[in-house]
Amino acid sequence: MPLILFAVPALWPEYRDALPAAIAEAGIDARIVTEADPAEVDYIVYAPASPLQDFTPYTRAKAVLNLWAGVEKIVGNPTLTQPLTRMVDPGLTEGMVEWVVGHTLRHHLGMDRHIVNPGHAWDPTCPPLARERPVTILGMGALGSACAEALRRLNFPVTGWSRTEKPGQLQGDHGLRAALSTAQVLITLLPKTPETENLLNKGTLAHLPRGAVILNPGRGALIDDDALMDALNSGQIGHATLDVFRVEPLPQDHPYWTHSRVTVTPHIAADTRALTSSRVIAENIRRGEAGEPFLHRVDRARGY
Ligand code: NAP
Repeated sequence: MPLILFAVPALWPEYRDALPAAIAEAGIDARIVTEADPAEVDYIVYAPASPLQDFTPYTRAKAVLNLWAGVEKIVGNPTLTQPLTRMVDPGLTEGMVEWVVGHTLRHHLGMDRHIVNPGHAWDPTCPPLARERPVTILGMGALGSACAEALRRLNFPVTGWSRTEKPGQLQGDHGLRAALSTAQVLITLLPKTPETENLLNKGTLAHLPRGAVILNPGRGALIDDDALMDALNSGQIGHATLDVFRVEPLPQDHPYWTHSRVTVTPHIAADTRALTSSRVIAENIRRGEAGEPFLHRVDRARGY
């Protein structure tokens, strides 16, 4: 009977019912514990906020199953030799789609003008149709492609940019330039890796159409903050809605808090949901026990 260590004590109350139920539903007879002799553990359910940072004594563990989609805080851990999986959770994806569609529509429809209108201005200018508002998504993985699908259903023309060649998507520096050049709304859903850090910088921000809106629910490090502040101040960027930051919580004295064309949301774009993510964890344990390849295995060399 496999022994599963749930190594994130702070999250246990959320998973106490959901995880055992999902494990049983997957037909696995397993024991789930929150503390164990490392040498006896078969699977580790994990998040980088866990007190567990040294994987060396977990000599028997077949996998470390991360509860978060982003793995930048664990992928480089030198003690981690076991296979690492990241979270692709239908509940998390649903939340991200809602956040991205909601914030895209806010800017597309110019909602702020009518929500805050102290002078009672009567400006009957109608917004364009979605089909006239090109959107670009950098990162067309689990989350980016779900957001693209939802935005396309509303008729937004969506351009996607990713690392590996895929039909209908752009890649590389040339592709990035093309993807940025049309983007009235730019959405960044890339992982943080050495290749993506500061991808949005003085040079790349200049390729966007003047007044473009940026939504960043990916990672703070994707953006060079000073370059973004300059681009906001010059009008090159019309608005930035930022959910993620290099330092979280965003320090009280950070200029993003007070900039009139920046919206800060406190890393709430999408959360892993216990009910749906437990099923993903259970499926991976079933696979591990059956000797099948794990779902969503992280490629350490690539960093995501
Ligand atoms: P994913 O499925 O791994 O997708 C990542 C995408 O980024 C893929 O399309 C990948 O290209 C592309 N990519 C990676 N490196 C690249 C590079 N150097 N150049 C171009 N494209 C590159 O990840 P996901 O599940 O969609 O999640 C994306 C990120 O969202 C996570 O890493 C995390 O940082 C963030 N996130 C934020 C929240 C929040 O609440 N704000 C919640 C969850 C996740 P390929 O398709 O070619 O591999």
